[in-house]
Amino acid sequence: MKQVARQARAEGRSAGFVPTMGALHAGHLSLVRAALAESQPVIASIFVNPTQFGPSEDFQKYPRTVEADSKKLEDAGVDYLFAPESSEIYPPGFRTWVNVEGLSERLEGRARHGHFRGVTTVVLKLLEIVQPQRAFFGRKDAQQARIIRQMARDLHLDSEIVVCPIVREPDGLAMSSRNAYLNPKERRAATILFRALDGARVSISRGERDALRLTAAMRETLRTEPLAELDYAELVDAETLEPVTRLRGVCLALLAVRIGAIRLIDNLLIEERDGAFHATL
Ligand code: AMP
Repeated sequence: MKQVARQARAEGRSAGFVPTMGALHAGHLSLVRAALAESQPVIASIFVNPTQFGPSEDFQKYPRTVEADSKKLEDAGVDYLFAPESSEIYPPGFRTWVNVEGLSERLEGRARHGHFRGVTTVVLKLLEIVQPQRAFFGRKDAQQARIIRQMARDLHLDSEIVVCPIVREPDGLAMSSRNAYLNPKERRAATILFRALDGARVSISRGERDALRLTAAMRETLRTEPLAELDYAELVDAETLEPVTRLRGVCLALLAVRIGAIRLIDNLLIEERDGAFHATL
C-alpha cells in the first residue's frame, strides 16, 4: 500500500482515501463518490479495528462481508482496496497510541471508554500508510469527524479531512452497518431518532433558540417509543462539543439511543447564517 501511494505521489497525483470497517452501504459509497469527484487514485480501506471496541462490544460479531464489499467498491470505481490483517496493523509489541484529549471523553467517549483512542490511533496509522491528499469521513459520526479534524490540526498532518453528509434510508433512519442487527420491530422503532431530530429541526425553523427546550422535546419524543432507551440527547457547540444553552454559531444535536441490544447514534447539524439558523439532518 505504501509503495502504491508513493508511486501516485511521485506521478503528481492526489490520492483520496475512504477508511471504513466494511459491511458497506450507500453511506460509505457516498464517501467514495465524493472522493472520486476530486481525487485520483481513490483508495478505500476495510479494517474492523479491534482497539476501538470495548470488551463487551460487538467486535467478534461485527458484520464481515469483504467479498461483497470489494465488488461494490470496484463497481463504484475505487482504484485500490486496502484490507490489512489485524496482525499487520497491531504487530506483537505494539505500544504507541494517539489520543485527542477532552473531545474524546465526552458523549460517545463516556459510553464507550477508550473508543476514540482506538479510532484516532488507527486513522493516524492509515493516513501514514496511504498519505492521501484528502480523507473522507461521514457526518453520521459527527464527534469522530470533529476529533479526527483536531488530530490532523494538532499533528500537522498533510491530509485534508473532508466531512460528507449523512445518507439515510427512505424513512429517515441513518444508514449504518449495525442496522442489519435490528429485527423488523426494532427496525421500525429505530426511526424514532430521526423523528426526534426532525422535530428539533422544525422547531428551529419556527424560531426556537433555547437548547434546553429543544433537548427536552427530543427526549419527550424518544419516550414515546417503548423499545427506545435513551443514552444521551445533547445540544453542543460543534467546535468544543460542550453543551450550549442557546443556539449560536455552529451546533450539533446529538443522540445515542439503544433499540433492544443495538446502540444507534444520529445527529442534526445547526448552522447560523445571516442571522438565521439552518438545521440539516
Ligand atoms: P464505518 O465503516 O462505520 O467505520 O464508517 C466508515 C465511514 O463511513 C465513516 O466516516 C462514517 O462516518 C461513514 N458513514 C457511515 N454511515 C454513514 C452514513 N449513513 N452517511 C454518511 N457517512 C456514513
